[in-house]
Amino acid sequence: MSNKKSFAKSQALFLKAQEHLVGGVNSPVRAFKSVGGTPLFFDRGQGAYVFDADDNRYIDYVGSWGPLILGHAHPKVIGDVTKTLNKGASFGAPCHLEIELAEMVKQAFPSMDLVRFVSSGTEAVMGAIRVARGYTQRNKILKFTGCYHGHTDSMLVQGGSGIMTLGIPGSKGVPDSFVKDTLVAPYNDVEAVRSIFNEFGNEIAAIIVEPIVGNMGCVLPENNFLQELRNITTQYNSLLIFDEVMTGFRSCFGGVQKDFGITPDITTLGKVIGGGMPVGAYGGRKDIMSMVAPLGPVYQAGTLSGNPVAMQAGISTLTELMKPDFYTNLLDNATQLEDGIKAIVADKGFTVNRYGSMITLFFTKTHVKDYDTAITSDTEAFAKFFWNMIENGIYIPPSQYESWFLSGALTKEDIKTTLAAINESINNN
Ligand SMILES: *Cc1c(COP(=O)(O)O)cnc(C)c1O
Repeated sequence: MSNKKSFAKSQALFLKAQEHLVGGVNSPVRAFKSVGGTPLFFDRGQGAYVFDADDNRYIDYVGSWGPLILGHAHPKVIGDVTKTLNKGASFGAPCHLEIELAEMVKQAFPSMDLVRFVSSGTEAVMGAIRVARGYTQRNKILKFTGCYHGHTDSMLVQGGSGIMTLGIPGSKGVPDSFVKDTLVAPYNDVEAVRSIFNEFGNEIAAIIVEPIVGNMGCVLPENNFLQELRNITTQYNSLLIFDEVMTGFRSCFGGVQKDFGITPDITTLGKVIGGGMPVGAYGGRKDIMSMVAPLGPVYQAGTLSGNPVAMQAGISTLTELMKPDFYTNLLDNATQLEDGIKAIVADKGFTVNRYGSMITLFFTKTHVKDYDTAITSDTEAFAKFFWNMIENGIYIPPSQYESWFLSGALTKEDIKTTLAAINESINNN
């Protein structure tokens, strides 16, 4: 590593930001608490690269935490969105773009007979849970430790180790009464799910799961876990909700449900389908979604839902994803990155998990299959690695427990540069 980078402008901005914004940020991980130091303030992005306020350039593996699968400022997306914006930002009334995006989403997710657009993944999950409860006339929801479903009260239940049958709030400000109907099991633990259903099965409205977890780092299902969840929910007349806010469009023009051939009752989407604008969606079987207002008694609404600018960003993004070879190239790069990282860390025995274009290098020798195994990672070593990567011009998520996201803008050369940086950053630790 040659010259140390200057972060003077980011540092000055962060000092000022803290006078006005809570913790200087508008979403907590951005504050770099788990890696220390000052968060980078970004000025602009272009394709695979982001530039910070001090004009340092990085190859970006965050992609705004998933949405930017085409890379930054994709000319087609920006051009289309600009044209749409010129016609007005929002009407609070129907527009034809909502139909177009819904058709594309349904083509990718045939399990979604009817779609409702909202403005974030959190909202999509809130809607999905409400309709699941309304449809089944049951209250309990089973989630998995270490899975993140946005910041809605009932989902802010973290697990400690082991099975926690009744929820304990993972955030101040969430009353116990709001989470008493949230049940928690370890991811990949079918036996725990079965025993919870043995006890509460007829009260459980739905299981909600990140079918492949991205939010404790990338963690894959094992031993037919997803099929078992499908079987158990069917047996008890509960619903299966796949939260594909992160996994949607990450490995194919569809989601984990397409890759694994498992059909959930309800799906939540976000991130990629908004192409960088605030969009979420939930949808599923017609009889279930017909419960939602104005068709049915489950209320859910939104001032900016389905607004033309956000719909256009989604349409333009998905249109690019449908081009031949988009996923072939993306997955080719992802495989090259995975193989390269595995070779670099072979002597250390670290774990590398990947699904499509999401990947996590865990600083642990333990096979990571759930929350308990994920937290065996050496987060201090990760923090050093993170800053070494920054010095080497690579921006990865500022936390061990996140997935890195590849974009279609990355070249083979970028991957090579990244691997060289990883090699240096690991061995300088
Ligand atoms: C990001 C995410 C959410 C929340 O989406 P927001 O748009 O941040 O509200 C929900 N579920 C999963 C799986 C996510 O990755």
